[in-house]
Amino acid sequence: MIRFESVSKIYPGGFQALKNVSFTIEKGEMIFVAGHSGAGKSTILKLVAGITKPTRGKVFVNQNDLGALSDNELGYLRQHIGIVFQDHKILFDRNVLENVLLPLRIIGYDRKNAERRARMAIEKVGLGGRENAEPQSLSGGEQQRLCVARAVVHQPSLLIADEPSANLDRAYALDIMELFKTFHEVGTTVIVAAHDETLMQNYGHRILRFQEGRFSA
Ligand code: ADP
Ligand code: ADP
Repeated sequence: MIRFESVSKIYPGGFQALKNVSFTIEKGEMIFVAGHSGAGKSTILKLVAGITKPTRGKVFVNQNDLGALSDNELGYLRQHIGIVFQDHKILFDRNVLENVLLPLRIIGYDRKNAERRARMAIEKVGLGGRENAEPQSLSGGEQQRLCVARAVVHQPSLLIADEPSANLDRAYALDIMELFKTFHEVGTTVIVAAHDETLMQNYGHRILRFQEGRFSA
């Protein structure tokens, strides 16, 4: 489903975040991206989502060479991707339901359908009953669940998460990993980046380890 071919990424200013990286992720696979801060994890996820472009090499998603797609085509592809960002991006002036249904309204769903799907997503992440809650009344773990609900509300075939448990206590962090597993179990391809590798143990999924922009042992 995803293929990196000799990908290098040099940011404006000259910092080389990725150095000639090649790998493949199969459809339906759940995979972890590990490495210390600055290793290149976010860069990998941004390339997968077409948010940033490789300096050299190619990124393929569903056979599409992302570098060859028009903005429209990239936009269409993104409708099949769910992203949990590191910095939440929760709208604190809207309740849980409104946060989750907004992405659907943006891609053109009518209010009724958007609300039905949003309620399903909220239920799925274990926030059923909290639809009208203000985000600031949620715990850190619940806020992260809200972000997951928003990322999966359009039923993406690919779910990517950047440090989804960065600010959570260990028990909550493991809960979030379990939540991602439930999406993997129904066929979604899931990529989770995190610096804490102990969260990835006991799953038996592949771990892509990075160090200074290269694979490490
Ligand atoms: P990680 O997610 O593993 O912490 P990143 O992919 O975010 O690593 O970053 C890798 C390196 O690239 C870091 O040193 C970071 O400072 C640099 N970097 C990331 N994004 C940018 C950017 N937009 N402009 C310049 N440098 C960047
Ligand atoms: P991460 O560890 O996930 O990369 P950071 O806090 O390093 O998180 O980066 C947060 C955001 O800032 C990212 O979108 C990244 O692309 C951008 N960024 C990181 N380093 C730099 C940099 N040196 N110059 C410009 N933007 C950067």
